[in-house]
Amino acid sequence: AGSGKFFVGGNWKCNGTKDSITKLVSDLNSAKLETDVDVVVAPPFVYIDQVKNTLSDRIEISGQNSWVGKGGAFTGEISVEQLKDIGAKWVILGHSERRHVIGEDDQFIGKKAAYALSEGLGVIACIGEKLEERESGKTFDVCFQQLKAFADAVSSWDNIVIAYEPVWAIGTGKVATPLQAQEVHVAVRDWLKKNISAEVASKTRIIYGGSVNGGNCAELAKQEDIDGFLVGGASLKGPEFATIVNSVT
Ligand code: PEP
Repeated sequence: AGSGKFFVGGNWKCNGTKDSITKLVSDLNSAKLETDVDVVVAPPFVYIDQVKNTLSDRIEISGQNSWVGKGGAFTGEISVEQLKDIGAKWVILGHSERRHVIGEDDQFIGKKAAYALSEGLGVIACIGEKLEERESGKTFDVCFQQLKAFADAVSSWDNIVIAYEPVWAIGTGKVATPLQAQEVHVAVRDWLKKNISAEVASKTRIIYGGSVNGGNCAELAKQEDIDGFLVGGASLKGPEFATIVNSVT
């Protein structure tokens, strides 16, 4: 980890029931979390209110997606205004499941980020290459193109956390090695330095996601440019998520 405040997000995806989430919240409330870490969870929309009303204020809430502009006649969508109204402080945008399963493209994701930021939500901006892209040597090109789409759309990086999430590592149990992750994080920071500013490059937290768990987090957290984690599967288990939050020490 670098000098910025460590940031750990739990992406619950489309998982959980009222009962399982009651248990998860209670486990999180009783977990001991290092004070010097930003901790955020992203429940499914329908449970955000339940989580907001029962989870300790120590942990902030994120949406897993948001509509690209002001709410209105957009059936099935959730607006930034609604996320704010219900107490969310963050939104995850550009997650690989939205890019590659749902089909969202770079420009759409960039516009979503710009709108969420303009309304005061923090954005967890996800980027990452697919396996065939890594194997054909395109990892940096793909990440830079996705970054550029965010950069072209937003006017400030103050409220953005970048999540590097190689698609081949998400939900597969195949975590990137600490060196593989560090290499991309350095490249992303360098891209920010060249294309935005030295200040943004040094201030922006770049977190890693993809099969992070209680057993591999400590080695990853030792890397200089890994400023935290975005955690899927392991964030559904309170004690393991707490271990990941505390991995920076
Ligand atoms: C994610 O979806 O953001 C993620 C990193 O998932 P997992 O930890 O399950 O690989």
